[in-house]
Amino acid sequence: MAHILTLNAGSSSLKFGLFAPGAEPQALATGLVERIGAADGQIKLKAADGTVLAQAGPAPLADHGVALEQALAMVQSAFPGAEIDAVGHRVVHGGPDIGAPQPIDEALIAELERYNPFAPLHQPHNLAGVRAAMGHFPDARQIACFDTAFHRHHPWEEDAFALPLQLYREGVRRYGFHGLSYDFIAGHLAQTEPKLAAGRVIVAHLGNGASMCGLKDGRSVASTMGFSALDGLPMGSRSGQLDPGVLLYLLEQKGMGAAEITELLYKKSGLLGLSELSNDMRTLEEAGTEAAENAIAYFCARIRRETGALAAALGGIDGLVFTAGIGENSARVRAQVCAGMEWLGIEIDAAANAAGARVISTAAARIPVLVIPTNEELVIARAAAAG
Ligand code: ADP
Repeated sequence: MAHILTLNAGSSSLKFGLFAPGAEPQALATGLVERIGAADGQIKLKAADGTVLAQAGPAPLADHGVALEQALAMVQSAFPGAEIDAVGHRVVHGGPDIGAPQPIDEALIAELERYNPFAPLHQPHNLAGVRAAMGHFPDARQIACFDTAFHRHHPWEEDAFALPLQLYREGVRRYGFHGLSYDFIAGHLAQTEPKLAAGRVIVAHLGNGASMCGLKDGRSVASTMGFSALDGLPMGSRSGQLDPGVLLYLLEQKGMGAAEITELLYKKSGLLGLSELSNDMRTLEEAGTEAAENAIAYFCARIRRETGALAAALGGIDGLVFTAGIGENSARVRAQVCAGMEWLGIEIDAAANAAGARVISTAAARIPVLVIPTNEELVIARAAAAG
């Protein structure tokens, strides 16, 4: 029977999902290949309920093609007879114009390769996954789904930087990312809370990568992430918003090169840099050191600041949604973010928040605060099913 495969290829990892088709694709399994290119690659396949179905490694996995072959062999033995007729790919960058999933052909790949310089740590690896899947499934529909696409209707002042206009023309713009997650939340709200979905909703996607988005009538109006996935909120190991003067200081005074600064901003900053301990929120919450507490306080303060900024961009706020690893699971962070935002109508019910309820605001609060698990793979599977 025809099935859908979703692929999310990173530099040394490959996340994949198997879905049964239907009006709404049903997740059957998810998998993760890690340490592609290293001698100790690993593959794990889990059922939709989290049970481990199969695992392999440590063993060498030369490249994304080999990783995909072995992952698919695992899928075939766990789901014999499951034929893949559509593959949905997560691609980080769709450039300034692409606002929806696209069927993949050579012309599209050539266009997407042009955006490699905009997302050098992600885009080439995403496209390596696309190539591997096209080689393996020459007859399947291949659909690209973009992190930037959901944000392509921002007003001009949310799309530009105040730099010489030529740079804007060249593509130096505020693209925004995590669009698949925001797309899921917007769709989920439209189904479950249509009145709220028609209003002004701020979504906080707080994972290892973190950003926020202002939605008006289900469409993105503004995002905290800009040209790259470095902007806006501090993240596990990324800096978030930074005075560009800091970059000049690193370049001119400390003599750092591009590779060193890239490493600093992407891998050594954020929660990790501030805590001098970990990029992982759970570890920081358990640590209780002064630096860990300061890192959490900085994270929460920036979320509050961006909430105010997005409320201004939206002309008000009718609801706040927390999602992704930290947003879905950390009652502590949710409480700390919301403390002091009563002026926006935000008031948390401590018991509901501690219990991880769907609605964590008090009955008397002016606006609802919701916790909604995101599902980026389902957004990709839907697009692949639709063709
Ligand atoms: P990614 O951006 O890699 O997809 P996730 O959305 O999985 O990241 O989020 C990972 C983050 O969620 C980590 O910082 C992790 O510590 C945090 N997290 C997961 N569960 C909890 C929890 N119960 N309490 C606090 N933080 C949590």
